[in-house]
Amino acid sequence: MGKTIIKDKLNRPLHDLRISVIDRCNFRCQYCMPAEQFGPDFQFLPRSALLTYEEIDRLAKIFVRLGVEKIRLTGGEPLLRRDLPILISRLSNIEGLLDLALTTNGVLLPKLADKLKEAGLKRVNISLDTLDDELFGEINGRGIGTGPVLEGIHAAKQAGLGIKINMVVKKGLNHSEIIPMAEYCKTHGLELRYIEYMDVGSTNGWKMDDVVTKKQIYDILKDHFELEPVGPAYFGEVAKLYRYKDTEVNVGFITSVSESFCSSCTRARLSANGQIYTCLFNGNGHDVRNFMRNGATDEQIEERITAIWNGRDDRYSDERTAETNRKRKKIEMSYIGG
Ligand code: SAM
Ligand code: SF4
Ligand code: SF4
Repeated sequence: MGKTIIKDKLNRPLHDLRISVIDRCNFRCQYCMPAEQFGPDFQFLPRSALLTYEEIDRLAKIFVRLGVEKIRLTGGEPLLRRDLPILISRLSNIEGLLDLALTTNGVLLPKLADKLKEAGLKRVNISLDTLDDELFGEINGRGIGTGPVLEGIHAAKQAGLGIKINMVVKKGLNHSEIIPMAEYCKTHGLELRYIEYMDVGSTNGWKMDDVVTKKQIYDILKDHFELEPVGPAYFGEVAKLYRYKDTEVNVGFITSVSESFCSSCTRARLSANGQIYTCLFNGNGHDVRNFMRNGATDEQIEERITAIWNGRDDRYSDERTAETNRKRKKIEMSYIGG
């Protein structure tokens, strides 16, 4: 079946989809799911609220018909979702889907990397914010050292998966790890992406002062390494990329705060319970799960998604001020997966 290109109010096509497969996590990263808010009594979604693999597959096919070429699975921690390779295998068979990726904290990769690769996964982004065990334990809120994540990276490599490393940089927390992480990733041939700390959700206590900007990180890096810019790989590529001179290794920046990229944002998000979000910072989800469970046909779902996308005018990062940060109804990062 042919593809339809749909555009939003700012003329942005729908091109990529982030699917959260679970809202739970084995970490409690302080910038994402702080342990004080996500304690033992926190009510995560019941299993019946989660989209089934059949439902995810059905929606993914419709999204691909509407122009999506790239899907990333996320969470919470996606590898906690039971039998994830079954979902990967279904999604990787969708005609017209060009790229299937996954973002993970990496801890379960030693167990799952081979199975994920066999099922058709192409690449993983693994989150690691420091190489310091003690600091990492503090950041992940569970006292877990870097060992399990480093083993996860090794397992992904052995399995033949493409790997990128995500590092959220927060002032006063891990900015001293900018160079050690660069050294580690460069030595191991891994693309590192520094992510500006964002004001997602309402639990992480975000302050503009806590952000270490791309420019600040770049200035630190260029004292240690010779870097040359690399152009964007495609329209909507969110990372600003550089390459260490005389190597094939890239290093990138996700400048969500200091240099917003709303004008080329082509991403929809599907939460674990089947709500569509048109922006990381727009807390108004649009239900498709109940619609589907009440018997909607593929055509009706396609129409609903088209209407949601046609009505989209989000550009939060372009407009971000301390005021918008306080006032907006937002959605937790762990809920829609970054
Ligand atoms: N659990 C998986 C992981 O940690 O990779 C997937 C979900 S996590 C929400 C997706 C990405 O969002 C991770 O790379 C994480 O570091 C990033 N992230 C979480 N909170 C953030 C924040 N406040 N600012 C910027 N990035 C954040
Ligand atoms: Fe879990 Fe990922 Fe959020 Fe950390 S960033 S708490 S690993 S979902
Ligand atoms: Fe896209 Fe919203 Fe982020 Fe802008 S703020 S880049 S519209 S997700």
